[in-house]
Amino acid sequence: MDEAKAALERGEFDEAFRLSEEAQTEGPDDPAARELYAVIHLARAIRLSDRAREARRQDLLRREIDFDEEFQDGPEVARAYDDAAAAIDDVLRVAPDHWKARMLKAALVFRRDRESGRPQALEILQALAAADPTNKQIPFTIRKIERPCVRCSDTGFCPHCKGRGQRRLLRMDRKCERCYGRGICPACGVL
Ligand SMILES: [Zn+2]
Ligand SMILES: [Zn+2]
Repeated sequence: MDEAKAALERGEFDEAFRLSEEAQTEGPDDPAARELYAVIHLARAIRLSDRAREARRQDLLRREIDFDEEFQDGPEVARAYDDAAAAIDDVLRVAPDHWKARMLKAALVFRRDRESGRPQALEILQALAAADPTNKQIPFTIRKIERPCVRCSDTGFCPHCKGRGQRRLLRMDRKCERCYGRGICPACGVL
């Protein structure tokens, strides 16, 4: 396990990942091994969640569809969301009460599909709020997402660049300043 920590500190992520899996298999009841596994797998889940969001933006750019049209993720984007969800579940299998992993899960289901994801995300957030009433971030997040967002017609996409992260001006593509090029609605994109 110390080897896994050392590998992590050296920035050798794949090696740390492999060693943490080994440590977890060897000592499934060791709290330190479990914590290390959770930390390393959570880092991976965060990367994959960001990648899924970015894959959707790229998909919008490529397909040149408007966010107010009927929107369906392409197969690559759907796979990216599946991978991120599986990575989060990896953490929760070992550490079911992991606060950050549960927050990330709420964010992912909400981002992926608001219609089915909103009630699921709110359920997770309300359970977290009940477990830790002193945490102000949770009720703040609940208020942000409990009602459909007016600014973006509840699409989650930046209304100025239509989720593309860039705008075409004078035949030049420029980074959208309203969303810092991320294509995410500035009002409801907190989660
Ligand atoms: Zn919005
Ligand atoms: Zn924008």
